[in-house]
Amino acid sequence: MTAKIIDGVAVARNIRAECRRRVESLQAKYGVVPGLAVILVGENPASVLYIRNKLRACDEIGIRSYKFDFPVSVDQAAVVRQIKVLNEDLDVHGILVQLPLPASFDLMQILHAISIDKDVDGFHLYNVGGLVLGDTVFPPCTPYGVVKLLEHEKIALEGKNVVVVGASNIVGKPMALMLMQRDATVCICHAKTRDLAQFTLLADVLVVAAGHPKLIVPQMVRTGAVVIDVGINRLPNGKLVGDVDFEGVREKASCITPVPGGVGPMTVTMLMVNTITSAERAGRRSGTAC
Ligand code: NAP
Repeated sequence: MTAKIIDGVAVARNIRAECRRRVESLQAKYGVVPGLAVILVGENPASVLYIRNKLRACDEIGIRSYKFDFPVSVDQAAVVRQIKVLNEDLDVHGILVQLPLPASFDLMQILHAISIDKDVDGFHLYNVGGLVLGDTVFPPCTPYGVVKLLEHEKIALEGKNVVVVGASNIVGKPMALMLMQRDATVCICHAKTRDLAQFTLLADVLVVAAGHPKLIVPQMVRTGAVVIDVGINRLPNGKLVGDVDFEGVREKASCITPVPGGVGPMTVTMLMVNTITSAERAGRRSGTAC
């Protein structure tokens, strides 16, 4: 069996076209232009690149973006003050603090300073709690993107065995909750899981977000499984790869996402979707249609 390759770039392109339509209709109906504020602390090269991609996506879709750069030495209180100003700014519908933050920062204090109504990354405790109850304000972007890819491929989840490898707060755990909400039987594995293969072999749908190249090899995958590779790893030769041995596993899976070109483009796109959703809510709240 050779797997169908799920084209995240194409799916993201379609969703972005829909985003542009939503932005136009929002402007026509309420005179509102969606706004996204992005805060960067320090100059982590990967973060700089991620922010550039996000700002470029904003431009492409018609979202107004506001960028705030702080030196790595900045006092955390100054960042919190900036967030509070943005919370009150009616032109800003989404606030994003690029992670990781410097080690000296209290991550939770920063994330919880963001207004729940503008938490487009979905990392605030309230949003995370909402995930547990199946009712978020904003689904976190990467797992949201994976769900959209699965929906696009018409991959049914009800009653399916789903194994999520990785249990981080921003990918693995919310991913597991979102799939459970869709009536899958979900198992979460992490670095201390003994004999990872005994779990991955059970998966009808295998989602991998661990940050280790070739963590998943063909012997760990059931024939016909759907494999979603969230991992992004830069090899010493500069090549970008996921967590899955793509060439080997594609001979066993029924569908597989490539890296790059799979989940990555969806993450940025779902950030755009969340920002527009926020602006639409603000437009409806203002109640003043043009
Ligand atoms: P993270 O915070 O480092 O978490 C990694 C998770 O994987 C942890 O739960 C860890 O277990 C688990 N893990 C590590 N080694 C493992 C192993 N050998 N076997 C099983 N589980 C293992 O990373 P993250 O932020 O979730 O990101 C994970 C990967 O996804 C990274 O490559 C990252 O670059 C990528 N990513 C991609 C996107 C995208 O848009 N495509 C977005 C976000 C992240 P413990 O909890 O036990 O430590």
